Amino acid sequence: MSIQMFGLPVSRGVAIGRAVLVDSSRVDVAHYFVEPERTGAEIDRLRHARNTVAEELGTLKRDLPAEAPTELAALLDVHLMLLHDPMITEALRQWIEVRHYNAEWAVTAQTEVLVRQFDEMDDAYLRERKADIEQVAERLLRALSREGGGLPQVTQPGDFGGEDPLVLVANDIAPADMLQFKGSVFTGFVTDVGGRTSHTAIVARSMDIPAVVGAREASRLVRQDDWLIIDGDTGAVLINPSPIVLEEYRFRQRQSELERARLHRLRHTPAVTLDGAPVELLANIEMPGDAPAALEAGAVGVGLFRTEFLFMNRGGALPDEDEQFEAYRAAVEAMKGLPVTIRTVDIGADKPLDRMSLTELRHEHALNPALGLRAIRWSLAEPAMFRQQLRAILRASAYGKVRVLVPMVAHRREVQAIVEALERAKQHLREAAVPFNDVELGAMVEVPAAAMVMPMLLQHFDFVSLGTNDLIQYTLAIDRADESVAHLYDPWHPAVLKLIADVISAANAAGKHVSVCGEMAGDTAFTELLIGMGLRSLSMHPSQMAAVKQRVLRIDSQRVGRLVPSVLQSPDPASAWQQAIAVPARSALN
Ligand code: PEP
Ligand code: MG
Repeated sequence: MSIQMFGLPVSRGVAIGRAVLVDSSRVDVAHYFVEPERTGAEIDRLRHARNTVAEELGTLKRDLPAEAPTELAALLDVHLMLLHDPMITEALRQWIEVRHYNAEWAVTAQTEVLVRQFDEMDDAYLRERKADIEQVAERLLRALSREGGGLPQVTQPGDFGGEDPLVLVANDIAPADMLQFKGSVFTGFVTDVGGRTSHTAIVARSMDIPAVVGAREASRLVRQDDWLIIDGDTGAVLINPSPIVLEEYRFRQRQSELERARLHRLRHTPAVTLDGAPVELLANIEMPGDAPAALEAGAVGVGLFRTEFLFMNRGGALPDEDEQFEAYRAAVEAMKGLPVTIRTVDIGADKPLDRMSLTELRHEHALNPALGLRAIRWSLAEPAMFRQQLRAILRASAYGKVRVLVPMVAHRREVQAIVEALERAKQHLREAAVPFNDVELGAMVEVPAAAMVMPMLLQHFDFVSLGTNDLIQYTLAIDRADESVAHLYDPWHPAVLKLIADVISAANAAGKHVSVCGEMAGDTAFTELLIGMGLRSLSMHPSQMAAVKQRVLRIDSQRVGRLVPSVLQSPDPASAWQQAIAVPARSALN
């Protein structure tokens, strides 16, 4: 039976493939294909891990104290039985031999299948037994990771002939876990939770593969291996579609690929409006390895390097100054002399230091993490960490043009502390005779309070960058990662547009560089409006650049500039803007 459901579209295009269901807690398990000639060795690896676990369980049973409840020994017997169950063993072998999954992936895939079967059992006692399956799987995964097994072979399924494309379905994926899927086997994503500008969605977008978040029931309704269509343009997710629907979407998929190829040809065309106003298109990156894609897309620099991804999932062992320096230097060198805006770490809210899904975050932090110790607040609370990061960034400036950007600034005393910290870091490097170049210092405007104290910010900072994702979140009091209030997350809200327009005007009047690096920058629905507000610099995912450039090339900046004031006065700016922009240029001039 085919089922259709809707979530929030976060990354364009259509993905068609077989579902790989992954439990949120196991998203970090390696997913890769093994070469057909290596499947035998992979089955051996799994067999070895199984023997290790069997020994562990045997030892546990032997060492049980005499007074231990008898259920405990029975439980260990159940685990041992599951471990050697011929049906399970055969299924695992098939995942590896037929589907070419690596051993860890085979374990998680089969676990999902079994857990579903247990979930559907009427007998409450049997339903409870799924915990045993999960525990045995956990032990197997641990044994496999202790064993290692060479580098992941991230090979596309088609390479072995006849394999189907795969799409990933999970309740939630933590932002840092999402990163590991860059260049992975998956051609699309669906998650149950998350908002359009949650960091998971942002990373999905940066991977440029179709994705839908906030699809609520997806991971419950989809089964391992179901055929799925993920429509990243409308948010539709179709489970086991009919052949006719499938054909229709395959046609759309081809059309959208053709469109992308057509847009890609614009990458070396300078972004200049019809009336000759140059517009700077910069890239947002998460890792130094993203820089080549930024160049390839035609970016004239990096407008936002989200350095927090270097800090995540390290079990509290933060990257030291040298490690950070190497990462920043790599990004700077990869950009070949173009400017790189390195944002100081923005940990907190939906980007915790250690792996935690949104669901866990919500449970663990009853207080509101988005209003807590995040971004610059965390950096200033950890002066040693901040010092190291500033020194690492300064050292990287010796290899190219570097700008430092600070997230979530709002208070004057924060500004003072930032300026002093940067000065101290420079002084330290001078004393140690470590080379660095001049860096411009910028503030992200992402709290309404900051937008309202622009004269103070412009006095101390060389440039500002509008973080519209957070500016919208904090102006409208809407958690950007919460799908249940996603309908209220409205970039067209008059208050949001007024703040954005005011910030751009204030920076332009002061002759300071201003950019937008939130998701609005890459959304073509806003290109004309932002240019009309006087913005000349936008930073976005490289995948969005060509479409935005195409818009820029067709804009008459003078004309859209004249349309802005009345739209800002309108109670319904979205409609007002649509109407204003729809009127042909000549009549607007009359
Ligand atoms: C923003 O808030 O708009 C922004 C660019 O920062 P982040 O999305 O990383 O919070
Ligand atoms: Mg932000």
